[in-house]
Amino acid sequence: MKPVHSLQTLRDRFALSERMPLVFLGHGSPMNAIEDTVYSRGWSQLGRQLPRPQAILVVSAHWVSVGTTLVDVSDLPVVIHDFHGFPNALYDQDYPAMGHPELAREVVSLLSSHQAQENDTWGLDHGSWSVLKFLFPRADVPVFQVSIDMTRDFDWHLEIGQVLSELRDRGVLILGSGNIVHNLRALRPSGPPPDFAQAFDTLFTERLTERDFGALTDRKGMGALLRQAHPTAEHYVPALTIAGASDSRDTLTFMNDSFDLGSISMRSFVFHS
Ligand code: ZN
Repeated sequence: MKPVHSLQTLRDRFALSERMPLVFLGHGSPMNAIEDTVYSRGWSQLGRQLPRPQAILVVSAHWVSVGTTLVDVSDLPVVIHDFHGFPNALYDQDYPAMGHPELAREVVSLLSSHQAQENDTWGLDHGSWSVLKFLFPRADVPVFQVSIDMTRDFDWHLEIGQVLSELRDRGVLILGSGNIVHNLRALRPSGPPPDFAQAFDTLFTERLTERDFGALTDRKGMGALLRQAHPTAEHYVPALTIAGASDSRDTLTFMNDSFDLGSISMRSFVFHS
């Protein structure tokens, strides 16, 4: 049954909490999930600093949809090993967190303006579990994903963040997982990042710091640099949704600000209230 007054329902069911921070993590290679890297250490350290949420909503680059925003309402999200050619140890990884069907259905209602629908066929892809296992290693906080509608432009995804920001006061941690620069065709085993990668990473950092979200959603303005940094946009979009959920009261902190394999920016950020 679809709730009629979703915001009121949320307020009734999920108690007011300390306003939750917002987190965007550059996840990079799935190997970070099983290796002790500077990135995974950064995620562990962040996890020790975060308040304990009632639930975690994840927007991962690896769940894309067409013409709809899907919300996973499963009781126990399936862990998806959505990659090929990696060591067996990576396929053995599990993250046995519960879902939060009740809250997920409220999110469907909240996002009715954005063609949201319930879904129970996804679960947790590696954009989620490969970082959550460091943030919340006990897997004792309910978690569910929201998909990225790839038919929509950047403003849409920023707006989704604005709508979801309500959840921050209800104990929900909103986590975006992607990469600020993600060009798999320009990977290099070592050495400095290519010029375009450095330039886009700097542009993003400056505009985000200035809260100039109009610039970050302006495909035309970013032009060729955007197309080089993101031949496809799915790793960029989660950062926009996190930006959209922030407000001018938040303090912005960056972490893991370096490049992996040349053309993957691992830059991550947190908005604290
Ligand atoms: Zn990825």
